[in-house]
Amino acid sequence: MELIYILLFLILSPFIYYWLKPRCPSCNKKVFKTPEVLDRKYTDTTPLKKYGIHDRIYNTSCYSIDLKKWTCKCGHSWQRWVRN
Ligand SMILES: [Zn+2]
Repeated sequence: MELIYILLFLILSPFIYYWLKPRCPSCNKKVFKTPEVLDRKYTDTTPLKKYGIHDRIYNTSCYSIDLKKWTCKCGHSWQRWVRN
């Protein structure tokens, strides 16, 4: 039975790949080129330490966001902050 799921995944993955690609706001075509990373920011999401000894219950957590720049074949380019 698992083979069916693997096959299904293999069939669907190009569609998912296509679907995830951004659309150019100018000519409305899909842009397949990998975006350039212009800037990166880290956001610390660790809860504030205010309970003294219980600090250790929190794991340090943070995430990064990238300012990405896409360039379309039509010449239009745009930037957006994307969470990793
Ligand atoms: Zn375009």
